[in-house]
Amino acid sequence: NALNFSGGPGALPESVLAQVQASIIEVPETGLSILGISHRSAWFESIVRETENNIRTLLGLPENYHILFLQGGATQQFSMVPMNMLRGKRHAAEYLDTGYWSRKVITEAMREGPVRVVWSGENCGYRHLPREDELSFSADAPYIHYVSNETVEGLQFHRILGRDDVPRVCDMSSDFLSKPCEADKFSLIYAHAQKNIGPAGVTIVLVRDSVVQSAGQNLPAFLDYRRHVDAHSNFNTPPVFAIYVVLLVTRWLLNDIGGVENMARINRGKADLLYSILDGSDDFYRGWGEARDRSAMNVSFNLPNADLERAFFTEAKAAGFSGLEGHRAIGGVRASIYNALSLGAVETLADFMQDFRHRSGR
Ligand code: PLP
Repeated sequence: NALNFSGGPGALPESVLAQVQASIIEVPETGLSILGISHRSAWFESIVRETENNIRTLLGLPENYHILFLQGGATQQFSMVPMNMLRGKRHAAEYLDTGYWSRKVITEAMREGPVRVVWSGENCGYRHLPREDELSFSADAPYIHYVSNETVEGLQFHRILGRDDVPRVCDMSSDFLSKPCEADKFSLIYAHAQKNIGPAGVTIVLVRDSVVQSAGQNLPAFLDYRRHVDAHSNFNTPPVFAIYVVLLVTRWLLNDIGGVENMARINRGKADLLYSILDGSDDFYRGWGEARDRSAMNVSFNLPNADLERAFFTEAKAAGFSGLEGHRAIGGVRASIYNALSLGAVETLADFMQDFRHRSGR
């Protein structure tokens, strides 16, 4: 298999893939293929319950939060959040504009109600995140929203933003369950599965009960959190397969890795290794973001010129690496090192990068 450094759907643990492979033919307790099990079966109900419990345990999430398994990707949450929490409000919701995904989020929110952009990285070309003294949040905002890890630029907040008296909403799509996140400081967290915890097709929403209770009325049922809470993530036919894979990954996180603290330590080690190659490369590998805001998930960088980048991609592909091309919005190289990518795979990439630099005469 190629080593998967893609920033889109990421690698999954090998032990999980083996279970997924077997389940395509038959899930032992059911005698059925995972692709043909009814979402109304008692078995699937138990799968949803266990997945919820595992996420609750991994994050230490209190009982006053609902855990929802929804469709429509993280993108649907760009609209669903303001539909439920902003429509009809007088005061503006406060959004941070820290990169490619923030901009998409803000565009959608503006269709639903008043939005104030508290800080924008546009002037710095999205090379760094705001410092604490650059931010000022108002007490009457319906909520603040930010993206914890900007997947494209490779910028990650290493602290929690906002104020305790205003609901925090966060898109954690690309770092959910990669580390502890103090989930109970947020009113709503959303994350699609396909980076760290499963295949595309399911998006996880953690939402405080008070948010659900006070959500806007008269929304299309499918876009109303209340309906999904009432239906226990079974409002219409849910993505049974994707949810099952998320369950297997949460079991792996709990039993094989030993929790999100351990996962964070492993992820930190992988990221430190790659950043040490960048920092020790005498400006051959040029990191996209400022050092203090670098992501432990997406390592974005450039080479001195486009010819060298092309040669890097060609040789990397021949050497068995996949997905290293940067996002089309900014180009360059991006090594995404999500949960399931092993330290060994990252060491192999680090060796390749050292070797490529030396062969390029630097
Ligand atoms: N938010 C972040 C941080 C992302 O990285 C992405 C996609 O990669 C999205 C949102 C959009 O997710 P989806 O394709 O599931 O709608």
